[in-house]
Amino acid sequence: MTDAIQAAGETSLAENFSIDSSDAAQGASPAVLLAEDAPASDVPNGFVALGLAPELIQAVKDLGFTQPTTVQLKTIPIAMQGHGAADEAARFTDLMVSSQTGSGKTAAFLLPVLHTLLTQMAQAEAKEKSDFEQAVAEAAAKGEAPPKRAKRKDPTNPRHFAPAAPGALIVCPTRELAQQVAHDAIDLVQHCRGLRVANIVGGMPYQLQIAKLQNANLVVATPGRLLDLQRSMQIKLDQVQFLVVDEADRMLDLGFSDDLADINQLTIQRKQTMMFSATFAPRIQQLASRVMRDPQKLQIDSPQEKHANISQKLFWADNAQHKRKLLDHWLRDTTINQAIVFASTQIECDGLANDLQQEGFSAVALHGALSQGLRNRRLMALRQGQVQILVATDVAARGIDVPTVTHVFNFGLPMKAEDYTHRIGRTGRAGRDGIAVTFAEFRDRRKIMDIEFHSHHQFKGETIPGMEPQQRFPDSRPNSFGGGGRGGHDGAPRGGNFGGGGGRAGGFGASRGGFNDRSAGASRDAGGGGGYQNNGGGFSQPEGRSYERKGGFNDRFAGSRNDAPAPRGDFGAPRGDFGVPRGDFGAPRGDFAARKPAFGKPSFAKPGNGGKVFVPRDAKKRPSRND
Ligand code: AMP
Repeated sequence: MTDAIQAAGETSLAENFSIDSSDAAQGASPAVLLAEDAPASDVPNGFVALGLAPELIQAVKDLGFTQPTTVQLKTIPIAMQGHGAADEAARFTDLMVSSQTGSGKTAAFLLPVLHTLLTQMAQAEAKEKSDFEQAVAEAAAKGEAPPKRAKRKDPTNPRHFAPAAPGALIVCPTRELAQQVAHDAIDLVQHCRGLRVANIVGGMPYQLQIAKLQNANLVVATPGRLLDLQRSMQIKLDQVQFLVVDEADRMLDLGFSDDLADINQLTIQRKQTMMFSATFAPRIQQLASRVMRDPQKLQIDSPQEKHANISQKLFWADNAQHKRKLLDHWLRDTTINQAIVFASTQIECDGLANDLQQEGFSAVALHGALSQGLRNRRLMALRQGQVQILVATDVAARGIDVPTVTHVFNFGLPMKAEDYTHRIGRTGRAGRDGIAVTFAEFRDRRKIMDIEFHSHHQFKGETIPGMEPQQRFPDSRPNSFGGGGRGGHDGAPRGGNFGGGGGRAGGFGASRGGFNDRSAGASRDAGGGGGYQNNGGGFSQPEGRSYERKGGFNDRFAGSRNDAPAPRGDFGAPRGDFGVPRGDFGAPRGDFAARKPAFGKPSFAKPGNGGKVFVPRDAKKRPSRND
């Protein structure tokens, strides 16, 4: 009976996430990040050397992972160190890992946790077996009838209800990320008998989640719904041995620090805590000092090494209309397979998606005010190649792993400079190349510099012939990265020399003068004290200083918790509306999943593309994880 329930639970999870090894296999190998570059066929599978359980090795093989990525190679052995020690609690090492998105970090924390859970289960089973055999032998020696095995209780019977008591808990800031991580976990446990994964996120029906939670060994959750279920005694967290906080920086951005404090208390008996974050900013270190014991820090990639496979472009625009023209021009690029267009706000996101639909693009919006069901279906449509353009707020910046996304457009700039890195990481996935295009108005120049500072990538403004900005560009700016000044700026229409300003000191300390605010729409970043003319404003901030304190930029954008969980109770959105209008591409409004024949081979005509039909390149090759 239990097995049947387990199978049912797993099937319904599979429906949500579709256990599909082939997609990962075909999109595997983030070549840049692999620890070894030798061809897979010549080298033994590197996961074997890590000492992982055979079931997990088989799963990574099925996924097409032949060698651990750098973060996996560095994290897994340390994370597993305590396992098998006499006093495991004392020996497990807490870990604080800073690793870029797309580096393989999910498997880096899932594999060691699953390995230990698996081994503990095998040990418990062996002990149960030997205890039973001993009891049988003792009964035989006394001439008594052999004892009967304890019957498993039917967990669907309300009388047998026991709250779930997982051994491992992974908390993620957004539902999309939690679903992605749960999906990866399900992929990894496909050969592990009896090891069950449950996903707990807001916006989904409670009953279904509670049913799936039964007997879960590993729970992947967003904090709000997790604590809801804990308070209603559907889940107990006191058996949690391993706590992973994924995207810890984003957790804090979204205001989850109180929830994290609660989770810390509820799992205080745990043996190990791992925290993954884009940076080791002071606020992350503070959080670590509250929830971790003497953590070992692993800095995997320096920011400079990030996204070498992504070509980053910047286009200056006079105003919002100009940005729209530039975006339209770009969206007609025939090399686009699928794209994510980022907007700054939910309103901008909806407006832009509507406009693009009107223009005949296959575009949908994704943001935190939409019901979770709709968010899931829209993401699924993107994964399945049924939608070409996803217009999203930062809610989508982390956790979306769709290798067929070739382009990311920053139409609205991110609320935090570090979000830029996460946004552009949505392309160039799994070893492919990607293009990230940012559109900025002159008044955004300070944000651009902050992005440059944070990403250690210096933009070279580009122009599209006939669409050059008309505004005179400021004369000069500090040389952001030390060394000599730069040459002229391509994007400067009339003699604006962006860079190479005479006599400035190198580094981030902006010196006085120089950046004459002659462009229209003078900077609104008032909090920075006059933007560039401010001595040492902005750029001289020490690494890791949080945006919140800088005034202007963040003050206007911060606290977008809107984009995190959708309001509770709105999950009943009618299934099937992706918001894609009837258009050239022949897609009637409706549920993509429900109209298989019409969308079996998705195709979209791009406006201005001579009606040429768009066929997602990998739509056929890469079956969706969600079907
Ligand atoms: P993550 O950083 O966890 O979001 O992973 C990024 C992508 O890399 C995902 O598509 C993973 O399936 C893939 N991946 C993770 N580990 C490996 C590996 N060792 N070899 C090849 N691909 C991997």
